[in-house]
Amino acid sequence: MDGSSLSRFDCLERETVNIALNRTINSPWSALSPTSREVLDAVLWSRSTSRGHLLERLDYSKSKLGGTVSALLDLGLLEEEGLGASSGGRKPETLCMSRTLGVLLAIDLGASHLSMALLDPTFKILCQHREALDVRQGPMLGMTRIKAVLKVLLLQQGLTVDRVLAVGMGVPGPVDFGSGLLVNPPIMPGWEGFSVRDDLSATLSAPVFIDNDANVLALGELWQRRRFSENFIVVKVATGIGCGIICGGRIYRGANGAAGDVGHICVDPLGPLCHCGNAGCVEVMAAGSALAREGQQAAERGESRLLAEALATDEPISSHTVARASREGDPVASALIQRSGKLIGQMLASLVNFFNPSHIVLAGGLSNLEPLWLASIRQSVYRRSLTLSTRHLDINLSTLEQEGGLIGAGVLSLLSCLEPPEKSQSRSI
Ligand SMILES: [Zn+2]
Repeated sequence: MDGSSLSRFDCLERETVNIALNRTINSPWSALSPTSREVLDAVLWSRSTSRGHLLERLDYSKSKLGGTVSALLDLGLLEEEGLGASSGGRKPETLCMSRTLGVLLAIDLGASHLSMALLDPTFKILCQHREALDVRQGPMLGMTRIKAVLKVLLLQQGLTVDRVLAVGMGVPGPVDFGSGLLVNPPIMPGWEGFSVRDDLSATLSAPVFIDNDANVLALGELWQRRRFSENFIVVKVATGIGCGIICGGRIYRGANGAAGDVGHICVDPLGPLCHCGNAGCVEVMAAGSALAREGQQAAERGESRLLAEALATDEPISSHTVARASREGDPVASALIQRSGKLIGQMLASLVNFFNPSHIVLAGGLSNLEPLWLASIRQSVYRRSLTLSTRHLDINLSTLEQEGGLIGAGVLSLLSCLEPPEKSQSRSI
């Protein structure tokens, strides 16, 4: 037996024992060696990669990588698929996370919607469902719908609940990432201190990971970019405004998990009162609820013919109503959208000067207001930011659209499984 096969044998035996131990606590991950975690992490971010690319990326010896990959293949954590691109000679087999591991359950809870999906471990969406849900109605209704939709999705795939490997969930409020609990969530007060994980424990035995929705979107975007962009921000503008920060290729949550709560940055000290108790926050002046409120006022005052017509038909004035009126040439609606973009750009300019991101990715319900809204944001950011910070800055809409929150929740769940136990939010339920 030569040295490489000996190390492979040792690795395999050690991992087999670890896995056997872990299955007793329902986790195939928690006692993996650091080397195995690193290889799985590299494969996860590539979706599919060859041994040659892994060697370049990880700077391992050929025998160390070969032994670890073989052990992970034998354990069913990795699988080989198809043939990768050849740089001359035999085309290499590519590696991906094993699809026999089970499925990931992704939950994207918004202020007014619930989206759920089952994904395979390469983050391919297998099936999904979206419905309207008012999160302010509290956790009883929300959790009832989540469990009902889960049953339907599993049925669609012909799966039982024990095939769910991990659960990732994005919520529209601040999350203490360690405990997975919402902390003083302004738009979902009934959820304060409610444990989604404990509630799901009657239905699922898989680990559940919860994060703020903007962070989840940022993880989805990071995966979409295969981690090639390492310093960027994802700004979700919907009913509220939040920001996910990718710093050095990782999500940055701050000391207490509150990083990126940019909706309460002041853009006008004389502005209207925000639900946080302060005046002139960008959220109360430029988010979806602000556009709806200002659209309603314009309709009631008769300033906008199209908005007044919508109001006369008992249509509730929403940001979408304002966007539609703007597209149909209503100057008042267009001015409201431009003002929203200008104020958001004003807030973003501070972030650009502070963080110097390579990209600003805009997501959430208001991102369908393009191109006028996007143009106003860009103009405002470029006018107020330092030249060096904006030299290569790209400001654009997310290309993931509504699937960003689902893919991000899938990434959150699998990535959290791969964290060493002492760093993970993981608590088997
Ligand atoms: Zn506020």
